[in-house]
Amino acid sequence: MVSPIKAISRCLKSGESFLIASHSSPDGDAIGSSAALGHLLQALGKRVVLYNESRLPKPFSWVPLPCPLVQSIPDEDFDWIISLDCGDKPRMGEVLAQRFGIKGTINIDHHLGNPEFAEINWVETEYAAAGEMIAELADELGIPLSGDLGVCVYLAIVTDTGSFSFGNTSPRTLELAAEILRQGLDPSLFVSNLQNQWTLSRMKLWSRVFAAAELHCGGQVGVIHLTQEMFKETGTSSEDTDGLVNFIGRIKGVKAALLLREDTPNLTKISLRSTGDINVQAIAAELGGGGHKNASGCTVNAPIREAEQVVLEVAARLLSCPRNTHG
Ligand code: 5GP
Ligand code: MN
Repeated sequence: MVSPIKAISRCLKSGESFLIASHSSPDGDAIGSSAALGHLLQALGKRVVLYNESRLPKPFSWVPLPCPLVQSIPDEDFDWIISLDCGDKPRMGEVLAQRFGIKGTINIDHHLGNPEFAEINWVETEYAAAGEMIAELADELGIPLSGDLGVCVYLAIVTDTGSFSFGNTSPRTLELAAEILRQGLDPSLFVSNLQNQWTLSRMKLWSRVFAAAELHCGGQVGVIHLTQEMFKETGTSSEDTDGLVNFIGRIKGVKAALLLREDTPNLTKISLRSTGDINVQAIAAELGGGGHKNASGCTVNAPIREAEQVVLEVAARLLSCPRNTHG
């Protein structure tokens, strides 16, 4: 049997037109891996459309995209529709999920429990980022990781490894970073592009969120909340919350960090983070979500404080800790 990477590189070479998509509310890996694949395909002389249900988040406006990121799918037949960094089909949004049949589709992903929903599936959870998989494809196709392609792959791996600090950072990840630097990427310019995108409003939002942080489960679960009121009062949006949850894990003794975001009065998005052996994917999966052992998420149909009770019950049970609270 042909390996998925060989099968996919054949499709990239033989096809003419490609729709590349990733999960809604895209993060650095979603944007970086999609853009990197777009650059690869353009290097092969192919037609590429980059689609996402959500618009490009402002903090990523500096990313060198191969073409604009569109929010509606052009009415044409693509030879291949490729999903990147989507742990399941609903993550790409309803419109594309409906169009994403079994024929003519490719699923490239690194999430636990990906149900392999495409014609060709390349799912490997040992990769730190979907962008790391695109780098393997570039290697397979003999295309160097220079210029914009290198920047986009670097964006994917830097964001999904927390700047090479999470447990998913492997020798392969660091060798890949080294290769991109050898090809000419300036790491300090890159980091300044990536990090120095804050607005004063964002800083005010984060300070409000931290001021109301809570500890639960004997101090082992740290919780922060984002409400619509906080967004309104500070003039911010969910685009201003990237990376926020990671800080709760800095409190000594916290094993699991939880961020609850009020999307509507009855819909709460939950982000979960941990380090080492603590598996927060199991908590998210029990509530209908998923992700990775140390970074997962889910959406609960309940008001924010009710959703908090639900997730804390599951967390206390799965982490075997008490269910008390510190303000
Ligand atoms: P975040 O908390 O940053 O949204 O997501 C953390 C990780 O969990 C990411 O790898 C993301 O793909 C995954 N994730 C977040 N929300 C969901 C969800 O509702 N369903 C699934 N299957 N994965 C999710
Ligand atoms: Mn990813």
